[in-house]
Amino acid sequence: MSLNTSIDGALRIAVVGAGPAGIYASDILSQSDETATIDVFDRLPTPYGLIRYGVAPDHPRIKQIIVALHRVMENPRITFTGNVNVGVDVSLDELRDHYDAVILSTGAERDRPLEIPGVELERSYGGADFVAFYDSHPDRPKSWDLTTARSVAVLGVGNVALDVSRILARTGDELLYTDIPDHVHAVLRDSAVTDVHMFARRGPAQAQFTPVELRELDHSPNVQVVVDPEGMEFDEGSERAMAASKATRMVVSVLSDWAIREADPDPAVRRIHIHFLQNPVEILGDSSTGVTGLRTERQRLTGDATIEGTGEFVDWDVQAVYRCIGYRSEPMRGLPFDSGRHVLPNAAGRVVDETGAPLTGVYATGWVKRGPVGLIGHTKSDAAETVANLLADAGSLPRAVNREPGSFRAVLLAKGLPITDFEGWDRLEDHERSLGAAHAAERERVKLHDRDEMTRVAAHRA
Ligand code: NAP
Repeated sequence: MSLNTSIDGALRIAVVGAGPAGIYASDILSQSDETATIDVFDRLPTPYGLIRYGVAPDHPRIKQIIVALHRVMENPRITFTGNVNVGVDVSLDELRDHYDAVILSTGAERDRPLEIPGVELERSYGGADFVAFYDSHPDRPKSWDLTTARSVAVLGVGNVALDVSRILARTGDELLYTDIPDHVHAVLRDSAVTDVHMFARRGPAQAQFTPVELRELDHSPNVQVVVDPEGMEFDEGSERAMAASKATRMVVSVLSDWAIREADPDPAVRRIHIHFLQNPVEILGDSSTGVTGLRTERQRLTGDATIEGTGEFVDWDVQAVYRCIGYRSEPMRGLPFDSGRHVLPNAAGRVVDETGAPLTGVYATGWVKRGPVGLIGHTKSDAAETVANLLADAGSLPRAVNREPGSFRAVLLAKGLPITDFEGWDRLEDHERSLGAAHAAERERVKLHDRDEMTRVAAHRA
């Protein structure tokens, strides 16, 4: 497809968020229109968002998606600029002065709130925070207390809950082949955790796990997974779900195999216990003790895969709680926000105001558009829809006031922002690989986690 661009040159697009969503949108745009230039911004010094800071370190196969994204970013019509926090360092209006359209692909990296008593207690953690810790996000916690709790609860039965449970259960040394930095390795190595209890409020046929990721939970010789047989219940809705989906049948089959196992008492083995039909209702403890337990209410399935409480409560002896009940996006200054769904309100990728009218030249893609569901690949079709609508609107979009190439970069430099570029990312990668090679365990790579250091290395001022 070729665009009927105005005489003052190529369509200028800004993409805010350099994760898979933004890069897929950039790729589709660059292939659709020979005259578009695409500038991708990220508030981190590095590209790849969720893949670098959300995918678990022991998932190298998923991290390989970076190879394909890297090829996209090598396209000379796509540039990357890091360390630019749009809405904070620079306003959306300032950006709009330089670009004909903006695509927001800022993702969802915070925890959805869980409103139960005790959620504020010490050692009641958002799963997203723990993920950010073990993935060494430069702006998130650099230390973590894994020495106080022996038994921990993980709330939710999605793939994030699997990641969190697996990382809590594996030994630090098992993860030495990954890119975790030394401070993360030390925390995991010294962990006191022996038992991880995952809690699902619904039944096994409603678990959100994908089969490959579920099976992997059991792959470590140091970890045993057992399923509490009490919650292995199915109603008509569950039967229908299994009949309709091979993935659901596979998940249920794996869980059923694990439900007939006895827990291994060997102190060298860490156990992951999965409990279905137990709805967390209160985190127990107080401000002096922190978390001392979790109260759940036993649920029953009502026939259509929904649940109701039985009035029977169980107190679990756990000393920490990890809430893995889904992510949420955050609002951006200058834009409307749907605070119920935690997304940018939009119609098929066109961001809309409170009356439902599209905002001129503002688009969304990825999790900030549709919410935090689906695997990374699903983001492609999402990006295709957003880009198709942007291109359909392109003829009528008012052109940006300031169209000089490099004009926005000059604004960023004038503000004194320590911006990074894609060549800088390549330098950072080389540096991380050299740290890996020099490591006593001869690792493929060791991640940097200090923003200033990352920026210095990217700028070649190390
Ligand atoms: P998710 O798949 O939506 O799972 C959220 C879980 O939290 C569900 O079990 C849900 O139960 C439960 N939950 C929600 N609200 C709750 C509440 N108030 N009380 C108790 N439980 C509650 O979300 P996610 O695990 O954050 O994953 C997000 C997306 O990323 C998913 O598409 C996932 O597949 C993907 N991902 C993939 C990988 C991978 O390795 N391939 C890794 C991580 C994430 P209900 O179903 O009952 O609501």
